[in-house]
Amino acid sequence: MKKIGLLTSGGDAPGMNAAIRAITKTAMHFGIQVVGIRDGFEGLMEGRFINMKYTDVDNIIQRGGTILGSARSLEFKDKEKRKQALENVIEAGIEGLIVIGGDGSFRGAHVLAQEVNIPVIGIPGTIDNDLYGTEATIGYDTALNTIVAAVDKIRDTASSHKRIFFVEVMGRDSGFLALNSAIASGAESVLIPETITDIEAIANQIKSQNKGRRSSIIIVAEGDEEGGAMDIMRKIKPHLEDFELRTTILGHIQRGGSPSYFDRALATRSGIKAVELLLAGETEKMVGIKADEMITIDLIDAIEKNATPKVEREELLAKLLTK
Ligand code: ADP
Repeated sequence: MKKIGLLTSGGDAPGMNAAIRAITKTAMHFGIQVVGIRDGFEGLMEGRFINMKYTDVDNIIQRGGTILGSARSLEFKDKEKRKQALENVIEAGIEGLIVIGGDGSFRGAHVLAQEVNIPVIGIPGTIDNDLYGTEATIGYDTALNTIVAAVDKIRDTASSHKRIFFVEVMGRDSGFLALNSAIASGAESVLIPETITDIEAIANQIKSQNKGRRSSIIIVAEGDEEGGAMDIMRKIKPHLEDFELRTTILGHIQRGGSPSYFDRALATRSGIKAVELLLAGETEKMVGIKADEMITIDLIDAIEKNATPKVEREELLAKLLTK
């Protein structure tokens, strides 16, 4: 193998750059040229390729986002439109592809592997941690730390003014960020898509907790079935007439920023592992981590099976709050 393609796709995540760096340097070590593809599958269809040099990946391990750019490309789902991407891959002499992204990106990688018949390896890069088979995805740890730091600040103002705050965090289909940030920030309650939200029960909990308490923080996953923080506040208001309610939507600050130690290390180890897998003749695998060991998972399992947060943690939170 002399040339491998590399793209980042879907939502950006802190640590993607550390993975790009590790892949480029590892490939060079083995005498392989990395072809960086701009803006995910969009750049693949448009042939926007760069031959990566050592200097391209210097000084990027600490930077959030992705230097290659990312995109959500609906056109790539269309077989006719994908033909151009296939031609570009063949013309550039790309013999293997590494895709850093989430499950949507792996679906794209999967169809590409079938149609152009080159090996593909996936690296999980998403703040949501919603990929089956791995204990952590690149970006998740950093995003959690960002949320916890933000909630600490909100707590200061909430307790100064005896306010109830509904803090919305990312997670359209998954409650990993909400549940674990709630535990780590000492939130009073958490609403996630995986469990049924009972508005009245939450109102009653707030009322009983608030005897003598100066504030309550309720973390809301954006994809909770009752809606985001604004919807929850609107629905709960009639039950909590005597309380001052506020919402904060953390939004895109959760994606940005310098990656944590954990994400840099995970990204670096994942990048090395991905190149090694291609060299070993593997295809349609995802790199993962379990008990601090790098592992591989069939890409199809990562695409088709669901990852769910350990909901007993929500029960743990509830136990802490009954005291
Ligand atoms: P993520 O990788 O973070 O889950 P998306 O779900 O937006 O993000 O997927 C990223 C990109 O992967 C899409 O914009 C599209 O180009 C490609 N993709 C997703 N699903 C498919 C599919 N079924 N077939 C081909 N390409 C797909």
